[in-house]
Amino acid sequence: MERKRACIHCHRLFALVRNPQQQFCSHRLCQNMRKSNWHRAKHKQDSDYRGNQSQACKRWRKKNPNYWKQYRATHPDYTDSNRQKQKQHKQMRRKKPLCSETSQFANSDALIVKISVITNGYSYYK
Ligand SMILES: [Zn+2]
Repeated sequence: MERKRACIHCHRLFALVRNPQQQFCSHRLCQNMRKSNWHRAKHKQDSDYRGNQSQACKRWRKKNPNYWKQYRATHPDYTDSNRQKQKQHKQMRRKKPLCSETSQFANSDALIVKISVITNGYSYYK
């Protein structure tokens, strides 16, 4: 008999196929959340990982010096949205210096989510 579990992110039931410890379904948004959680925890706990990530980012920025400048020039909606998020983030940090909220800035893994039309009271992600 196929065992099922509710995804801890979207709460939909999914089949436990290979990993009995699996907590997230295979939906893209849920997998992005799982990866993001893993990355955040690893970054917090593992100083070697943090150092490697920092070095990789430096190398990438050196190799792509104009990437963000060009991206901002060609994506004004993103730029405005990110500016608003930065303002909110700064305001929150002023209020709560040890804020544990996750960052809303797109940088390492851009999360692109498109929610299609809501039908029958359920929203579906593309
Ligand atoms: Zn899910």
